[in-house]
Amino acid sequence: MSIKENLNSVLSQIEEYRQKYNVQQKVELLAVSKTKPYEDVLEAYQAGQRMFGESYAQEACEKIDRFKDSGIRDICWYFIGPLQSNKTRSVAERFDWVLSCDREKIAKRLNDQRPAGMRPLNICIQVNISDEEQKSGIEENEILSLASLISNLSNLKLRGLMGIALNTDNQDILKDEFMNLRRIFENMKKIYPCVDTLSMGMTADMEPAVECGSNLVRIGTRIFGARNYNKDN
Ligand SMILES: *Cc1c(COP(=O)(O)O)cnc(C)c1O
Repeated sequence: MSIKENLNSVLSQIEEYRQKYNVQQKVELLAVSKTKPYEDVLEAYQAGQRMFGESYAQEACEKIDRFKDSGIRDICWYFIGPLQSNKTRSVAERFDWVLSCDREKIAKRLNDQRPAGMRPLNICIQVNISDEEQKSGIEENEILSLASLISNLSNLKLRGLMGIALNTDNQDILKDEFMNLRRIFENMKKIYPCVDTLSMGMTADMEPAVECGSNLVRIGTRIFGARNYNKDN
């Protein structure tokens, strides 16, 4: 299957789930291209995809700059990986969104380093919904103070929440975790009217994520194939 065929099959699957679960809102597809070469991203772009997710700052910046150099400017880039302080500048200078903001220090640096003249950087707070020690994301009781900080930074725009579920086939666990994030999202929308993005669901758990109200699924493997992490990314 080509990248184009994979993309179309994911898009029709999203529509299928929307109908199956009577989902009213639009569910957008973020194509996660981390570790994949420029040529693969270009192929997805030529098939009509415009939103791409990347996790490794340096690798991402090389791809983004190549697209800009070739005159392609209508791609929306989402940073979705763990963000270290020394990488915030390159992200603030190039990306449209950061879905993985989970620390005040990172939010402040992104705000300070966002170049004048660029639109505010859209931010989602990453929440730890799976209680796994090694996973990034903040705890529920820390969300509101980080949200308040972000909403007061003029170069950032608070847009919503992102969560990564436990790596399991157990649908009950997945739905519990996604419904929990959905509940937090609904509460947050009441406080911050600009909040409109709930990003849940990857290749293995897209169905329960759409069922539970995700409006931005992040799909890598099913579009681009398995990733090879042996190269130095
Ligand atoms: C890699 C990654 C994805 C995509 O995962 P797949 O299982 O390949 O679909 C989604 N979200 C985040 C945060 C990721 O790091």
